[in-house]
Amino acid sequence: MKYYDKLIFELSHPGRTGYSLPSAQQYPVATIPANLLRESKLELPEVSEVDVVRHYTNLSQMNFGVDTGFYPLGSCTMKYNPKINEEIANHPGFAGLHPLQPAETVKGAQEVIDGLDASLAAITGMKHFTFLPCAGAHGELTGLMLMREYHMARGDSARVKVIVPDSAHGTNPASAAVCGLQIVEVKSGADGLVDVESLKPLLGPDVAGIMMTNPNTLGLFERQIGEIAKLVHECGGLLYYDGANMNPLLGKVRPGDMGFDIMHLNLHKTFSTPHGGGGPGSGPVGVGERVLPYLRIPKTSGFHGNFGVMLRAYAYILMLGKQNVKMAGPFATLSANYIKESLKDCYKLPIPTVCKHEFVFDGLINDGAREGKAGATTLDVAKRLLDYGFHAPTIYFPLLFHQALMIEPTETESLETLDEFIAVMKKIAAEAAEDPDILHGAPHNAPIGRPDETAAARNPILKA
Ligand SMILES: *Cc1c(COP(=O)(O)O)cnc(C)c1O
Repeated sequence: MKYYDKLIFELSHPGRTGYSLPSAQQYPVATIPANLLRESKLELPEVSEVDVVRHYTNLSQMNFGVDTGFYPLGSCTMKYNPKINEEIANHPGFAGLHPLQPAETVKGAQEVIDGLDASLAAITGMKHFTFLPCAGAHGELTGLMLMREYHMARGDSARVKVIVPDSAHGTNPASAAVCGLQIVEVKSGADGLVDVESLKPLLGPDVAGIMMTNPNTLGLFERQIGEIAKLVHECGGLLYYDGANMNPLLGKVRPGDMGFDIMHLNLHKTFSTPHGGGGPGSGPVGVGERVLPYLRIPKTSGFHGNFGVMLRAYAYILMLGKQNVKMAGPFATLSANYIKESLKDCYKLPIPTVCKHEFVFDGLINDGAREGKAGATTLDVAKRLLDYGFHAPTIYFPLLFHQALMIEPTETESLETLDEFIAVMKKIAAEAAEDPDILHGAPHNAPIGRPDETAAARNPILKA
């Protein structure tokens, strides 16, 4: 039986403890009112300290994280997060703050918020940020509420449509729908960029704005952004920038200069907070001149948002400094293009141009399909990667290709790690060509094999 087959309760043994308290005779015993006393015994596992340590250490190792291996999850920027940021966020002077403390006792925290606001404004070309949103999607909703405030304040209530490119992150149309707006899709051209000619007929007096990611989710820079901004502004709409993918542009290009009016950043992607598994995030929303008067209106969370994430971001920016912030993007871009060029003989590359921080393959060139034998899919490649100790890239997103495999290596990986990943991806391609069943059955070495993906998401069994 392996460690993960047992619950901590199953390791329990009567009388075993992992602690020792001083004898009660030495200290006065508080009397607890009878109505507050528990009626039945508290069912806690009885285990020794070493059992507890091994159990949870082993459980933690069943998980995959940036601290355990390469995690090239496209659109998610799973980069290494310097540990000094954790130390700063855990500083008792910050970690012990209470949100209702008198303002004069939290001047340091206020300085952090103001300093981060100023830094992000300088990086993005926005005027100011609100830090209330606690995730990227939460920022999108806040930003769209701001877009609505702007139009309503001008008595322009007919603007109910938001244009979203077909390559957009799924949260974009979802946030627009939650905000009560109608979604209109604009098609990408064969080059993976928004097609300006397809955009023109969609623009009119009912358009609130457009939501864009640049570089888009194919890792491509929307070169026509100047023209798009002009057209959208001329029709009276606003431009919303989904800045979750800001990493490649840091210190190089500013959304404000591209013509965007509202944007969010994912501090937990670009600015170094560990994420995944729904951990604390921060999706601050920045605005340009047009929308500035409305910035404080939507109260989308309590107090100042996730302050710990803001601290990490500010520490990260200050630590890199003005000169080095600019280097994240070029190195991330170099890593992505290096992997793309090294693997394009084994994996289909639908858009062969130079990419930014990420790119998309469309499955294997030789998937091994033959008489009576199904070929290996992108899912199979992803599962097989786990056997070799790598986290899978993002798969089946964006929806523009059937076998999408979206790779984002980030700037924090060494050449050796990139080379190892490339070698493994080549090995998997060779395995598929030879016998795709090796891939169909993968992962062979992971604690669990292949759960039913739908059932596992809809009906998770988290114990026993
Ligand atoms: C991650 C991501 C989001 C959503 O951010 P969350 O913090 O997960 O809500 C939105 N847009 C893009 C492009 C992203 O990569």
